[in-house]
Amino acid sequence: MTSTEAFIAAAEAHSAHNYQPLPVVVATAEGAWMTDVTGRRYLDLLAGYSALNFGHRNRRLLDAARAQLERVTLTSRAFHHDRFADFCTQLADLCGMELVLPMNTGTEAVETAVKTARKWGYKVKGVPDGRARIVVAENNFHGRSTTVVSFSTDPEARADFGPYTPGFTVVPYGDLAALDAAVDADTVAVLLEPIQGEAGVVVPPPGYLAGVRELTQARNALFVADEIQSGLGRTGTTFACEHEGVVPDVYVLGKALGGGVVPVSAVVSSREVLGVFRPGEHGSTFGGNPLACAVGLEVIALLRTGEYQRRAAELGDHLHRALAPLVGGGAVDAVRGRGLWAGIDVNPSRGDGRAVAERLLARGVLVKETHDATIRIAPPLVISEEDLDWGLARLREVLGV
Ligand SMILES: *Cc1c(COP(=O)(O)O)cnc(C)c1O
Repeated sequence: MTSTEAFIAAAEAHSAHNYQPLPVVVATAEGAWMTDVTGRRYLDLLAGYSALNFGHRNRRLLDAARAQLERVTLTSRAFHHDRFADFCTQLADLCGMELVLPMNTGTEAVETAVKTARKWGYKVKGVPDGRARIVVAENNFHGRSTTVVSFSTDPEARADFGPYTPGFTVVPYGDLAALDAAVDADTVAVLLEPIQGEAGVVVPPPGYLAGVRELTQARNALFVADEIQSGLGRTGTTFACEHEGVVPDVYVLGKALGGGVVPVSAVVSSREVLGVFRPGEHGSTFGGNPLACAVGLEVIALLRTGEYQRRAAELGDHLHRALAPLVGGGAVDAVRGRGLWAGIDVNPSRGDGRAVAERLLARGVLVKETHDATIRIAPPLVISEEDLDWGLARLREVLGV
């Protein structure tokens, strides 16, 4: 097979249509660039939904993976292996926490956090059996499992997948009064994205995260921060919660933790919270495998340099300075974001988000719309300022500004 059309036709014929990819077939990638099967190059402004924060095929991550491939890749948790302790120790330290429970995908980590909060609620807080409730936010995105879509408010993600898991209360995002009213004696956790990624890079009002921290502390409920997309450098800090000086009880991590090489996720918390698990109560065959730990360890080492957070902060300022003047000119209704992460609401006069993404594709820039009218900009943090400017110039072209 050689042509783009042939690859797409074969994929359409033999895969479930649970995605509608843009019509480009990638063959290779490096840094912030991808090359398709025809040899055409594209600037990647999506970065695998922030799984590729350190760029495509980051040299240090590939070296770490290669070295581990030559030693051992999988043991299962039936046995110890010699990268596990180091990974858990380093990740807990990066998070300022005590214990780590490694999984693979983000969804699994969220599921793990839900189980953790419930068990903590019964064993530590003393909630009567079967009564535990978790408060979540409207327009959340926490993954695709049946339990996780049970508390989604997106009809597309949820419809026809019931019966749904009970035990969740949904409140408007950014509304402390609503949260205050929702948290009761049976509430074991408040589960939130510190910035809502899939909702369109929605930054909560100032003081919200600090308010969530105060309220959960006062009511003896866990603050579970889903930093799967917002964490690990994207917003200019290691965690988005840092922007309000907030430390949650539980971090849920994924995406960039695997460096775009392998799926690596984790729940990171205190001994009081993650200490509730006993052998046999939870697990995953691939969770915390040697290859995942080797790559994860190198991701942590990259984050410890501070270079990626600094790049996200500096290039993020540059990005938001470039985008701000577009608002109100007829093409762009709103821009939100923090660090190297922006959600751009495109005015319907310029077509829907998909149409904008297709016009950008034609000019060599890869983005993905979220919902109908929002374009997300989230390049690999290794992107150069020149490449970012080039991508932004293409964006202005397709928006006609
Ligand atoms: C992507 C994402 C998830 C789900 O991660 P998967 O690896 O796709 O299962 C959960 N929460 C947030 C905030 C995400 O962005």
